Amino acid sequence: MKTIGLLGGMSWESTVGYYRLINEGIRNALGGLHSAKIAMVSVDFDPFAELQHKADWDETGRLLAEAAQRVQAAGADFLLICANTMHKVAPQIEDAIGIPLLHIADAAAEVLLERNIRTVGLLGTVFTMEQDFYRGRLQDKHGIDVLLPSPEDRTIVHNIIYQELCLGKQEPASRTQYLRIIDELAGQGAEAVVLGCTEIGMLVKQGDTNILLLDTTAVHAANAVQEALR
Ligand code: GLU
Repeated sequence: MKTIGLLGGMSWESTVGYYRLINEGIRNALGGLHSAKIAMVSVDFDPFAELQHKADWDETGRLLAEAAQRVQAAGADFLLICANTMHKVAPQIEDAIGIPLLHIADAAAEVLLERNIRTVGLLGTVFTMEQDFYRGRLQDKHGIDVLLPSPEDRTIVHNIIYQELCLGKQEPASRTQYLRIIDELAGQGAEAVVLGCTEIGMLVKQGDTNILLLDTTAVHAANAVQEALR
């Protein structure tokens, strides 16, 4: 079994989910008392959130590249960044390490294409929804069209992530807002909605809606289990 490298803490609320899903995946595959071999560095999220909102991506990339080197030094065979937004600096991180990065958008695209889904709605931070590193990758590398909520709704989605979900709060009123926005994306033609932020799956579940939801935490963790056992 390979050792899975995790760059976590962004936020730790969702890193807990990764840790659980990966260990459950290994136990289900191998049985007995098997569990995952994991090397993790978990950062203090507050300064990163500040750098993101100041658009200081260079410094974010520098700090995360350093953290990724520590994950590699701890014995990881490959790396996951346990967040969608921080894939903005995936190229800087990849340049700093000698192990492969399992990109979260590729993990999502693989599942979508298996289901022959070509048009999706995307929810995430405004960075993930509006910038090219994520949407562009789905569109240009994988041929998946991406629909976004309105600018006002993007702000609502973004604020709920930073002000509630990253703090471990799941408010019913916020779930109602998310479900309304998901319905509107389906109304625009989305065949599925990508939960492109690793905390959203804690707020909305597949049972809350008829529209197919793709939880990026779950697909990324499953991808890691597959790779660890390959
Ligand atoms: N975990 C989130 C994501 O998947 C948001 C927090 C962050 O900005 O890293 O994008």
